[in-house]
Amino acid sequence: MSHSYKIIDHVYDAVVVGAGGSGLRAAMGCAEKGLKTACITKVFPTRSHTVAAQGGIAASLGNNTPDHWTWHMFDTVKGSDWLGDQDAIEYMVREAPAAVIELEHAGVPFSRNPEGTIYQRPFGGHMQNMGAGPPVQRTCAAADRTGHAMLHALYQQSLKYDTDFYIEYFALDLIMEADESGNPVCKGVIALCMEDGTIHRFRSHAVVLATGGSGRTYFSATSAHTCTGDGGGMVLRAGLPLQDMEFVQFHPTGIYGAGVLITEGARGEGGYLTNSAGERFMERYAPSAKDLASRDVVARSMAMEMREGRGVGEHGDYIYLHLDHIDPKVLAERLPGITETGKIFAGVDLTRQPLPVTPTVHYNMGGIPCNYHGEVVTLKDGEPDTVVPGLFAVGEAACVSVHGANRLGSNSLIDLVVFGRATGFRIAELVQPNSKHGAIVTEADDKALARLDRYRNASGSTKTADIRLEMQRTMQKHAAVFRDTALLDEGKTKIDAVFGKLADVSVSDRSLIWNTDLIETLELDNMLPQAVITMHSASNRKESRGAHMHEDFPNRDDVEWMKHTIAWFDPEGHGEGLVKIDYRPVHEYTLTDEIEYIKPKARVY
Ligand SMILES: Cc1cc2nc3c(=O)[nH]c(=O)nc-3n(C[C@H](O)[C@H](O)[C@H](O)COP(=O)(O)OP(=O)(O)OC[C@H]3O[C@@H](n4cnc5c(N)ncnc54)[C@H](O)[C@@H]3O)c2cc1C
Repeated sequence: MSHSYKIIDHVYDAVVVGAGGSGLRAAMGCAEKGLKTACITKVFPTRSHTVAAQGGIAASLGNNTPDHWTWHMFDTVKGSDWLGDQDAIEYMVREAPAAVIELEHAGVPFSRNPEGTIYQRPFGGHMQNMGAGPPVQRTCAAADRTGHAMLHALYQQSLKYDTDFYIEYFALDLIMEADESGNPVCKGVIALCMEDGTIHRFRSHAVVLATGGSGRTYFSATSAHTCTGDGGGMVLRAGLPLQDMEFVQFHPTGIYGAGVLITEGARGEGGYLTNSAGERFMERYAPSAKDLASRDVVARSMAMEMREGRGVGEHGDYIYLHLDHIDPKVLAERLPGITETGKIFAGVDLTRQPLPVTPTVHYNMGGIPCNYHGEVVTLKDGEPDTVVPGLFAVGEAACVSVHGANRLGSNSLIDLVVFGRATGFRIAELVQPNSKHGAIVTEADDKALARLDRYRNASGSTKTADIRLEMQRTMQKHAAVFRDTALLDEGKTKIDAVFGKLADVSVSDRSLIWNTDLIETLELDNMLPQAVITMHSASNRKESRGAHMHEDFPNRDDVEWMKHTIAWFDPEGHGEGLVKIDYRPVHEYTLTDEIEYIKPKARVY
């Protein structure tokens, strides 16, 4: 072996990778049950992307309008364009109110109604009366800084229950072993301490991947630069598949040029969109929900306006968002953050001028397949729900799947806490505190360290940043809001070629101390296979559903395509190319008989 890294050992009952909302909630849950718990994170916990969540968290509390969990369930199923698993959706919406109250007790300073209850605002796609309307006020908000408030409260709680934090540690790879029948089992994770370059082996009975989304595979994204899908990369290297990666959400209102998000809460509070003629065009596309139709619908309508020459500006490549008709007092109270953002990133005074916005990559519906206990599942010998012992996934990194083909606004924050909590419960059922660990098998460590060593000494001719830019531009052009056969075919060839360039990457810094060049290369190596899978899965899905709009197949096809894409990545491309695709059935059943399976129908807003 060419390398000789010293390994520092740790043993835990549970190790959570990621300290966003989902990771912190899972860590808190494990620690609370007396399990010896570690949380590893590449950024300081309160800098995780969850901190940027503005609009709020959905739960049918019914504080501002009548509401019921069955209505929330209907909206989520419809929002998912019938690709969501209804057992998992039922679990989420039923647990949602308790999870929000728990956050309130944990110290989240929610905005209040005059009588003292939690303030709830309208959000896209959330309706009363099983979709019939009018809009419901379901999204609980702490002004427009809900994620910030949540993350701070959850970090404090995790500390209270004695979670050990490993901050600015970069998780490299999972420690996978095979059981007697050759099935994969997770035994821990290997990480690099970015500050001093030491290597750490965490042996654990449970590893929870809470590493967030992979929005940075695209050029223009609202997500932080740290959203590089590291968990997905680790899972693919472990020989396990990802699910539904073709479904990438474009948020209608990213600030033009900057990509910074303006929350849907802005439209929830009465904001509306106009084209170059000053027309409120959403009335044509979604006569009933208008500007509060679900995100894929609004983003597509905006793209259509721009395509047909009614975009605003010299190049007709943006749309106006109006908040200038709203009482400045309301803006200051309910949307103070975005008022500031508008000024800084667009130089616009929201109280008087419209804001230039354009659809921007925002969320990955796809991810690591798992069940509603957070257990990672894979397709094995025709059995679609085979659990991978020891491995769990939560948050945006996971695909439960509650969001299916399109996520409703404010349904991610609730997903984080509901499934973070469920995962803690499940691990506490499976793992006895302080139970013994097996012998160390060094094969997985060797593989992880060989990869680290290869990139650290990479002396090819292409810079990491150049390959990354080419990936991002390819994704932005070929797998955007509108897709067609020609675009996707060309996209596949291009993105495969970009992946090929990774073999020729050059890293100039050879040290192990704060080597950002190396870290960015490891992140790129995590992102690229997911970009390739996204493109191939999009090309493979010959229908339009939710965020996946295929113009040569403009309709949803429930007979052929009401199924989850499962994709494996093979860097050597043995036989079939880089990506192997199979399917898992959508769960066409609910969790209890208190609600019936919601049958597919046309999705109009
Ligand atoms: C601007 C913006 C606004 C949003 N607003 C809302 C909203 O109002 N309502 C809503 O429901 N949803 C919203 N969303 C979506 C939602 O915020 C995210 O989906 C969610 O916060 C993701 O949380 P998470 O716990 O999965 O991961 P994140 O919060 O992204 O955290 C990921 C964690 O993983 C760690 N990590 C990653 N890779 C590694 C590695 N290799 N080694 C160690 N640690 C690693 C990071 O350090 C970090 O702690 C918004 C998203 C954005 C981008």
